[in-house]
Amino acid sequence: MFDSVRTRLTLWYVGVLALVIIAFALLTHFLTIRVLNQDVNMRLEEMARNFAVALEAEQSDERESQIEDETIVETIDEFRFRDYQFVIYADDGRMIATTAAFQADDFKARDFSRSGPSQFRDLTIGKGSLQSSYRVYDVPLEVGQNHFRLFVGHSMHEQITFENRLTKIFLLTVPPALILAGFVGYFLARKSLAPVIEMSRQAQRISAKNLDERLNVKNERDELGQLATIFNALLARLEASFEQQRRFMADASHELRTPLAIVRGESEVALARADRPAEDYRASLAVAHDESKRLTKIVEDLFTLARADAGQMQARFAPIYLDELVGDCVRSIGVLAQKKQIDIDFSSDAEMPLNGDESLLRRLFLNLLDNAIKYNRSGGTVSVVCLKKTEHFLVEINDSGAGIPPAEQTHVFERFYRVDKARSRVEETETSGAGLGLSIALWIAEIHRGTIKLVSSDTSGSVFAVEFPRPNYTDEQK
Ligand code: ADP
Repeated sequence: MFDSVRTRLTLWYVGVLALVIIAFALLTHFLTIRVLNQDVNMRLEEMARNFAVALEAEQSDERESQIEDETIVETIDEFRFRDYQFVIYADDGRMIATTAAFQADDFKARDFSRSGPSQFRDLTIGKGSLQSSYRVYDVPLEVGQNHFRLFVGHSMHEQITFENRLTKIFLLTVPPALILAGFVGYFLARKSLAPVIEMSRQAQRISAKNLDERLNVKNERDELGQLATIFNALLARLEASFEQQRRFMADASHELRTPLAIVRGESEVALARADRPAEDYRASLAVAHDESKRLTKIVEDLFTLARADAGQMQARFAPIYLDELVGDCVRSIGVLAQKKQIDIDFSSDAEMPLNGDESLLRRLFLNLLDNAIKYNRSGGTVSVVCLKKTEHFLVEINDSGAGIPPAEQTHVFERFYRVDKARSRVEETETSGAGLGLSIALWIAEIHRGTIKLVSSDTSGSVFAVEFPRPNYTDEQK
């Protein structure tokens, strides 16, 4: 039950609201009672003052220093109010006069003190159903040379009734208000979380088979709209990645199928007749051998890319000299160039220290050089230039091949992309691949924080440029 956000939200809402309402009710109750009490006290003080004034007036009438008890009784008689009671005591503790409600004993035993400052006290008088509460103002009174103790009482009946009523009102209104708030809170939480529930239902329906589906976005600007947009972007990335994977698998199986079919066809031909000349067998075996080499190359390339995608291909960085490495690659590809009577030229303008993975970088440049020879005309040229620029090292590979048509140029770095599949198949060499060479070269350049670009390509040849940021370039600047 508490696992539901709706329930938790509602409980929090009702809990906080209950605290606020209860605190408000208690404060209201407390302040109201305080004001009423102050009001009663003020009126009691006023009554006592009036009584003293009346008594003083009586005394001045009588022109005697001693006030007679009858005078006090008469004065008290004039002060008969429904809600106020008076008791007056003489200096010696004798009760002189009282209005009906107070009994002398009510005070004598517990409260009467001849001296002491004036004070308010709450008294309960009587027993059982006759019991009544009074707020009593206990005040010393001095009239001429006479000392009295006066008690003015005010029945608290009305105030207690009011207090009880106030409590009852709170008890009757607060719980239903909280219950109502609970329902409203639950309804609001339900309403505001409904899109989330709807979104999770939609998301649940999306699987690998219908990755093209998207969540409905009602309002892009609110939080839920943003969540749905982010989720949709995630789905789009997933879909693209699934699609890439699928295409990769389809292309890979297609590329593997062709050499396998050739090996099978050749072996079938060779086995079809028992008495064949030895040269025929040789020729068939040579084809099978070439195709198996090609297969090995494709499988190796696929494996490299698959491991690179999975992040399992770890580059082993070490200090190397880029110019030396490129020079080595040019030398090792020389045999291939000679076969095609291609003149290969290498130049470098400076030392190029770099932190890189030697075998991966070798692979990058061999792929580019291999292409420069493979897609070149017989008797053509390849020139390789290493340049030290301000912020980076640049290696340019120029060839005199037929070039890449403009519409194809942006695709050459894609996996399995071959401009002219028929031509590539015809000119298969030992290193000819399945359109993976440039993808691998690009990946190698990127893990070295470098770039690889096709700078230009037309019918007179192509120029590929590889750039690597110069290590400590910023340090050197300082
Ligand atoms: P492959 O293994 O088939 O050579 P790459 O990824 O190395 O694959 O190259 C992709 C395609 O780009 C090649 O099939 C080729 O058509 C084209 N290409 C690459 N380099 C050159 C070049 N120097 N001259 C002309 N075309 C090129």
